[in-house]
Amino acid sequence: MPFQSEKKIIDMPVGPGHDMEEKLSWATFIFDSLGNEMKNDPTISRLLNDYREKIRETWRTMKEYGVVEECTRCALQDGGSCCGQGIENKFDVVTLLVNLLLGVNLPRKPWDPTGCWFLGPRGCLLEARHVICVNFICKRLYASVSGKGIMEVQKAMQAETDTAFVLEEYLKGWLIRHE
Ligand code: SF4
Repeated sequence: MPFQSEKKIIDMPVGPGHDMEEKLSWATFIFDSLGNEMKNDPTISRLLNDYREKIRETWRTMKEYGVVEECTRCALQDGGSCCGQGIENKFDVVTLLVNLLLGVNLPRKPWDPTGCWFLGPRGCLLEARHVICVNFICKRLYASVSGKGIMEVQKAMQAETDTAFVLEEYLKGWLIRHE
């Protein structure tokens, strides 16, 4: 079903930057208009499942090698946080749309006004995170996680971000074809 609205996909803000309310409004609009059709597309459905699996594998590997434990210790005991205000500006509409397709409720405003828009009381609220969120390994982690652990975690992260890239590129082409 093509868009039945004043809004045209060609006008969608492309790339990072732009106002978060504007990007959220576009992602929600596309999801409400075409979300069901997207989910019924066999390629999108396969790519979403593959992506879900890769995300799960990254978290599993991070738990196995102590990354989650160390990040929790850093946040709760030492007041650390990698999720600072402004990181949300790196997100574009398509990544927000992917979150909606994965069943995420996107917050309409930040829970912590000094943190990233998507930071909740128990960490990140998103399933589909930006590549800089997924790939970031700080000095503390390099010091506390084994070399094998770092390698395995990086392998899982790479698989996740590669899958995200393929999915997002497919979605962009799909949206243009369905305009
Ligand atoms: S991991 Fe989530 S909360 Fe943290 S910076 Fe990335 S998007 Fe924001």
